[in-house]
Amino acid sequence: MLRISACCLTLVLLCSCAPAKRPKLKSFKNDYPLTAAPIESVRINDSLWAPRLKANRQTGVPHCLAQLEKSGAFGMFRTLNGSTKEGRYKNNPWGCSDVYKSLEGLIRSNRTNPDKAAVAAAGKKVDEFLKLVAGAQADDGFIFPYLQLYKKDYKPFSAALARYTETYCMGHLIEMAVEHYETTGSAEALKIAGSVADCIDKSHRPGGKYDFPSGHPEIEIALMRLHRVTGDHKYLNLTKRLIEKSKTIKTTWSQGKPAMGHDEAVGHSVAMFYLYAGAVDAAQVSGDDKLMGLIRKKWRSAALTKTYITGSCGTRGHSEGFGAPYYLPNDKAYCETCASISYCMWNHRMFLAAGEAKYMDLMERTLYNGFLSGVSPSGDRFYYPNPLKTARGKKRVPWFGCPCCPTNVVRFYPLIPTYMYSTDPVSGEVSVNLFASGRAELHLGADILTLTQKTDYPRDGKVSIAYKVADVRDSTTRTAPLRIRVRIPGWCGKPAWMLNGKAIVPKTDKGYAVFTLSGDAGEVTMNCPMPVVRMIAHPKVKADHGRVALMRGPLVYCFEGIDSPESTELALAADQEFETKAKEIMPGMTVDAVIAKDAAGAAIAAIPYFARAYRKETSMLVWTRQAGLKTPKDAEADSWKDKLYRRLDPKELD
Ligand SMILES: [Zn+2]
Repeated sequence: MLRISACCLTLVLLCSCAPAKRPKLKSFKNDYPLTAAPIESVRINDSLWAPRLKANRQTGVPHCLAQLEKSGAFGMFRTLNGSTKEGRYKNNPWGCSDVYKSLEGLIRSNRTNPDKAAVAAAGKKVDEFLKLVAGAQADDGFIFPYLQLYKKDYKPFSAALARYTETYCMGHLIEMAVEHYETTGSAEALKIAGSVADCIDKSHRPGGKYDFPSGHPEIEIALMRLHRVTGDHKYLNLTKRLIEKSKTIKTTWSQGKPAMGHDEAVGHSVAMFYLYAGAVDAAQVSGDDKLMGLIRKKWRSAALTKTYITGSCGTRGHSEGFGAPYYLPNDKAYCETCASISYCMWNHRMFLAAGEAKYMDLMERTLYNGFLSGVSPSGDRFYYPNPLKTARGKKRVPWFGCPCCPTNVVRFYPLIPTYMYSTDPVSGEVSVNLFASGRAELHLGADILTLTQKTDYPRDGKVSIAYKVADVRDSTTRTAPLRIRVRIPGWCGKPAWMLNGKAIVPKTDKGYAVFTLSGDAGEVTMNCPMPVVRMIAHPKVKADHGRVALMRGPLVYCFEGIDSPESTELALAADQEFETKAKEIMPGMTVDAVIAKDAAGAAIAAIPYFARAYRKETSMLVWTRQAGLKTPKDAEADSWKDKLYRRLDPKELD
């Protein structure tokens, strides 16, 4: 889904194990102006993401595949192929989607794996599985093992079975098959993806029996990926038709209103984020400004009225969905790990369309807080909801009855390197969007630009970006000076900049600092001071009245009972001199704890939210009471234009 324009054709294959048969993608007249860095072009070697990406490949993916074997989800496909040894599958009807998602994670996480034997084994496993899929498909391409096995009188795509998520599951199959095709050039994978999409296309023709929107969106993203690799407009047209139908017809997952029939973000958070993401793809490729305008309004609704400070969405009691504007109860926060993942996918597309830092700012907050909380460093323990207040927090667990989050985590992790950089082939600019030590090699016309990041982000706000340009043909082919754009972190304010050792005040554009490169090698450095700050919420967020949340850089902090016995009751003193102190949460995870003072003058410690509940099942609180903080008046809300959270100025305290 991220290799999306002609620029991708110039992919630098850093990976010696990259298959020679990787297919060329189609280019479109209308498309995203920015191109995400190809997975193979970015290597992260930091202490936070790199070990987690490795653990995901070596532990997370095999763990999910083993659990799905145990639950009988894989067995359904073998039964449909005539095996009599399989037991009855007794889990959710949409269990096949978790098989597809885990295999997509297997394929994607091996794209940069230097272990050739492991890469070959992964390819073989997927090829064998696709044979099972082909054997399980109905004559018209339909596949939904649960219905085929246990509901023999089913009618595909019927409104009564919308909750069974047929198009959602088939969408995940298409995504997995397209991923395999993009990675290996497998004609069989593309054939299966096409047959499944064609089945949906034939069934959802205008005026036909099943002319309604997708039951649980996701298929929209999948169809757009298929459109990108085939160039077949039938898949774009089907995507747009499903979106158009969702303007007038409500579904199980859209919570009483047609999902796209209004400007507000309403419905099941994960389903809606998938729908919005697919809609951005369709709007970009088809040049549909009206649809893009609607999506921008949806973004404002979600980002400015319905997002927790941890960057995630969804409240309990609203069917895993959004609540009313500014209704953000901390103990009832659902913040499903899948919601963080799908929010990142949507925000990244919004960024590629507009180039504005605000989308990457939000995505960064979601990544480091809402998402990172949802999975252990070992890659095989997970949270489904991620509340901001618990009376007795539970530890992460290996699996769930509905394992949508674990199987989403394993396919999402390997996308993180691609989010870090993007290129604009027309302007000759490369953007540094996220910060982590590592190296990227990106093509801009005839130039290969190598960027080497050195930083201890998010523990430290100093980032060094060394650049080196190599012209693979002839330097005279360069028609415009190369430029590096570096995101100014939204939490930072004004960083100090240096270019080739000299302090500089760069031009800024859309929240990015812009540097024109004068030579073929040099260095840009950014220094963002990282003080501990107290954040307050928009006056209309009643749950946070009189309360503050601590942040340092992009990290949101929480108080746990193990450090502060009355953590859900404590109040911070007005005068504070915050200190940070390295704290080992467990072997391999050391964080910067914040030492603060409670209203009685006692020292209390907060830790990053993502590091919660590893030491003990204990109480936890993000928004703590703040002595001297007045209850805001609604009238003050006008001064909060385009903000849901902002820094508290200590002078505001009584
Ligand atoms: Zn989930």
